[in-house]
Amino acid sequence: MGPAPRRVMNFDFSPSEEVFRKQVRGWLEANVPDDLRGRSFAATRADRDEVGRLRVWQRRMYEAGYVGMDWPSEFGGRGASVVEQIVLYEEMARAGAPQFVNRGALGMLGPTLMAHGTPSQQRRFLPGILTADALWCQGFSEPNAGSDLANLQTRAELDGDHFVVRGQKVWTSMAHVADWCFALVRTDRSAPKHRGITFLLVDMRSAGIAVRPLRQMTGEAEFNEVFFENVRVPVENVVGRVNEGWGVAITTLAYERDLLTFIRHIGLRNALHRLIALARRTGGAADPVVRQRIAALAIGEHCLRLNGYRSLTKILRGGAPGPEGSTAKLFWSHLDQELAEVATGVLGPYSQLTEGTDRAPDDGQWAFYELLAQASGIRAGTSEILRNILGERVLGLAKD
Ligand SMILES: Cc1cc2nc3c(=O)[nH]c(=O)nc-3n(C[C@H](O)[C@H](O)[C@H](O)COP(=O)(O)OP(=O)(O)OC[C@H]3O[C@@H](n4cnc5c(N)ncnc54)[C@H](O)[C@@H]3O)c2cc1C
Repeated sequence: MGPAPRRVMNFDFSPSEEVFRKQVRGWLEANVPDDLRGRSFAATRADRDEVGRLRVWQRRMYEAGYVGMDWPSEFGGRGASVVEQIVLYEEMARAGAPQFVNRGALGMLGPTLMAHGTPSQQRRFLPGILTADALWCQGFSEPNAGSDLANLQTRAELDGDHFVVRGQKVWTSMAHVADWCFALVRTDRSAPKHRGITFLLVDMRSAGIAVRPLRQMTGEAEFNEVFFENVRVPVENVVGRVNEGWGVAITTLAYERDLLTFIRHIGLRNALHRLIALARRTGGAADPVVRQRIAALAIGEHCLRLNGYRSLTKILRGGAPGPEGSTAKLFWSHLDQELAEVATGVLGPYSQLTEGTDRAPDDGQWAFYELLAQASGIRAGTSEILRNILGERVLGLAKD
């Protein structure tokens, strides 16, 4: 008897997938606006004008059939195959195309509404997510509820057919430009902390909402404090059941760690290409240690991509993201920070020059990247918390 046949994975694309790739590539080449091209590797969504341009860009991509390709057709998508979705992301990275401005809603809220929303919520909210006519922010974190999210204290009390919301959210990305917010609020203060939470869709134009920008170390204010003072929200805006929002939020967070990490990968790949070009241009590539670190980054990026294919396949085959998404998020943030560090080393003191400064390499995007990367290990679950999840829920280690 000969040796057992090896199971071989085939990563080649079929002829029809290659046709699709050609089509997307041609479309992106002709359509990515010059003022947005190449910026996705150190992208900001703080600037209102830039957000306006990104909205137009998402809409254009939607009209061409490239937004929400993986969404089922009943929800306005194309029910595309996992491979087409991957090809799209790869080509967006190759073209230096910006990511979708409404990616939080596309990657998190959309799937959450498909799983837990009513048909009327799905009809009302899903189209605007795809077209970017409605920009969304995520109102989860509070001053005393970050890693310990279930400690959230923003209250919502029933008054007739409305909830009245009082409290504060913090670190709310995009709140200054958002039309809507998907928020977690406490609706039963006597229940244990994971119960008594409700998932609510709040119109950001409601009376009683105040948004205060928080300036970040990048110099920009992409996230905000959001204050709710007796904000009235119709009961029909509850997703899932009242007091059972924790289960809904878990769906959202799982998609945040898994799907969004795959999308963030576009930015990482762009940055890696830019780093290689930078190392060649500056002569840094002649240093064997720099070469080794860049090679390690390229290998890491490849692993992240293959791991992303695996989770995306599972999701598009009807499965839900599991705690394994935490590996992708943890690994991505590690790579992102390592990449920023290597670039800073290659540039030396020039790495400090910011946008608009004379002689700033790549118009100061590296200085921005280095500062922004500090947040990678915090947002969407800190690295410590992700290690806890992996240890306890994936590896089955004892809690203590
Ligand atoms: C750029 C950026 C954008 C963000 N955007 C949003 C947004 O749009 N919407 C939103 O709701 N939130 C947003 N956040 C908030 C983010 O989710 C929280 O910052 C994160 O969950 C951590 O919470 P915290 O800041 O309160 O830190 P804390 O939870 O107070 O943690 C402080 C430190 O203690 C560690 N720690 C805490 N508990 C444990 C534990 N049990 N075991 C081991 N270590 C522990 C943490 O790892 C961390 O190092 C954003 C954050 C950043 C940086």
